[in-house]
Amino acid sequence: MGPPGAGKGTQAKIIADRLSVPAISTGDIFRANVAEQTPLGLKAKSFMDVGDYVPDDITNGMVRERIAEDDAADGFLLDGYPRTVAQVEVLDDALAAAGRSLDAVIVLTVSDEELVQRLLKRADVEGRGDDTEEVLRHRQDVFHEQTEPLISVYEDRGVLMRVDGIGTVEEVSARVFAELDRVRGERAR
Ligand code: AMP
Repeated sequence: MGPPGAGKGTQAKIIADRLSVPAISTGDIFRANVAEQTPLGLKAKSFMDVGDYVPDDITNGMVRERIAEDDAADGFLLDGYPRTVAQVEVLDDALAAAGRSLDAVIVLTVSDEELVQRLLKRADVEGRGDDTEEVLRHRQDVFHEQTEPLISVYEDRGVLMRVDGIGTVEEVSARVFAELDRVRGERAR
């Protein structure tokens, strides 16, 4: 978890690679569907364009199907999901029904100002020209309103790890692995 621009996608791929599990990014799945102009993509696009979340019923069904695929049988890393309280409930049910549970929830922490600067740069570099400052700020607001409350939900369950997201990609992933090792050591005791 983390606000847009915190580096979730980059870190998700590195962590998933190290753990040999698939990185499941709802944002990537939506973007691929938009690019291919599938019915799902057409539905998602109008929400994504203005920086809003895609409605839960669309997102939840997509994730349910994805985590039931063969490559996720031995574990998976979710990038950008869950993002709403309703998504947490659906994920809980899906995991419980499959006799599975989350080992860890990682939050990358980065200040709002640093985030907007990073995102504007990314929009420039990756040609995400529709990421205007207004849309980016709206995405931050949506994160604060809808997703930040999830942090305390997972904190109360004792699975939350906060990792400082400022620094190079390598510095941040080193922090993530150190934290995962620390928690694994604690649980083994
Ligand atoms: P991301 O690349 O994770 O920032 O996702 C890009 C966009 O896809 C978001 O701004 C949302 O519009 C949409 N999206 C991704 N994941 C979710 C989710 N879990 N719930 C709702 N919308 C999502």
